[in-house]
Amino acid sequence: MGGIHELDRPGRWLEFLGTSAGVSQKTVELSRSCINAVRDVWTKVDEVVSLNQLKVISAFRQCGVTEADFSGTTGYGYGDTGRDRLEELFARVLGARASYVRPQLICGTSALYGALHGTLEPGETLVCITGRPYDTLAPAIRKLVAWGVAYKEVDPWNHLPPGAGGKEAASAWRRVPGFDEKVSRASVVLIQRSRGYGERPSLLVDDIAGAVKAVREVNPEAAVIVDNCYGEFVEEREPSEVGADLVVGSLMKNPGGGLAPTGGYVAGNERLVESVAEAMVAPGLGKAVGPSLGLNRYMFQGLFLAPKVVGEALKSAIYISKFFEEMGYAVSPRYDEPRGDIVQRIKLGTPEQVKAACRAVQMASPVDSAACPVPWKMPGYEHRVIMAAGTFVQGSSIELSADAPMRPPYAVYVQGGLVREQAILACALAAESLFDLAK
Ligand SMILES: *Cc1c(COP(=O)(O)O)cnc(C)c1O
Repeated sequence: MGGIHELDRPGRWLEFLGTSAGVSQKTVELSRSCINAVRDVWTKVDEVVSLNQLKVISAFRQCGVTEADFSGTTGYGYGDTGRDRLEELFARVLGARASYVRPQLICGTSALYGALHGTLEPGETLVCITGRPYDTLAPAIRKLVAWGVAYKEVDPWNHLPPGAGGKEAASAWRRVPGFDEKVSRASVVLIQRSRGYGERPSLLVDDIAGAVKAVREVNPEAAVIVDNCYGEFVEEREPSEVGADLVVGSLMKNPGGGLAPTGGYVAGNERLVESVAEAMVAPGLGKAVGPSLGLNRYMFQGLFLAPKVVGEALKSAIYISKFFEEMGYAVSPRYDEPRGDIVQRIKLGTPEQVKAACRAVQMASPVDSAACPVPWKMPGYEHRVIMAAGTFVQGSSIELSADAPMRPPYAVYVQGGLVREQAILACALAAESLFDLAK
């Protein structure tokens, strides 16, 4: 055994799972066959990554980013040219006219709350056309309702044909029960691109294009806001490029590239972006204040790396999907299905299996690998949630992370992965404990 031929064998590095992590030979072989099975799908991801990577580099060049942009300000942050350049860059990359990108926006939920608060007035109507929004938005929407905003939902999931993009997309949306009636009264229409903790699939940018067209046909005045969390750089186009008025997301997800230490963004037309900034800070101050506190370099470099990092996260999700399917679990999406976000759903079935899967993700992490995640009542979530995240940035979910609301059908949602090898290790460790549970 050994010699040069042994070294040439592809996937030889997988043996390290056995020797260093104590993974059984059976699981090593399962990992190997899954890697071979997903190779072609990974190659398709590379096409999107390279295109988006080149787009990002040209945006940097067009904006004329310089080293001086990294120095940053304190206090009020007047004249923070680096911060202003970063916002120009985000707008360009996302295909929008303006953006508001700040560490002070903290996360996706706060940016979304700011976006809704900044664009709605009491007496106006908000309509979400993608069913129940992400869990942490429920308190935000209750607050808007108490303030005098009317709220309505359209649930398209049993009515929209799969892949509703293309020529028929707008009419497919308009056939969803209640769509015309509710949208005709809306001042703001909310679209959530990612699946959240739901059984629904993610929306492709084509689907969003159809939805925007349908909204315009019914109500040309309404502003369309897209919750873009987990969607950035997954496809070759972004929702702003197909007509969304405002897109919103978190820098602890895709566009932070794993480097941004905190923050959120909104991007879209100048008027809406400015009114969101006024709602978040104070009328009259808006975008003019907000110190970058020395964080600019992380924001710039994170955005620069984001297409590559999202590629690793997609490859991780594709692999995880294949691996758990081979283990006999229902997965969504399947490994070779189109993806509009980086989230992978696995239906496990019992609380014990959910905990085992989350613990495996934690064990495979570079940080806090010895911690044991347990379900808890997290701020903003209706059910107890278990979350595994051994991350450099607290709670970052562009880093490999798993979470599950502790409710039937006990599905776990896995996302992120700065390097796909971490997902491969996590799957192997999960398999070992799920095999044990089944004994
Ligand atoms: C993560 C997420 C949010 C909330 O973002 P946080 O950064 O966790 O506050 C909102 N919507 C969707 C679809 C998300 O995935």
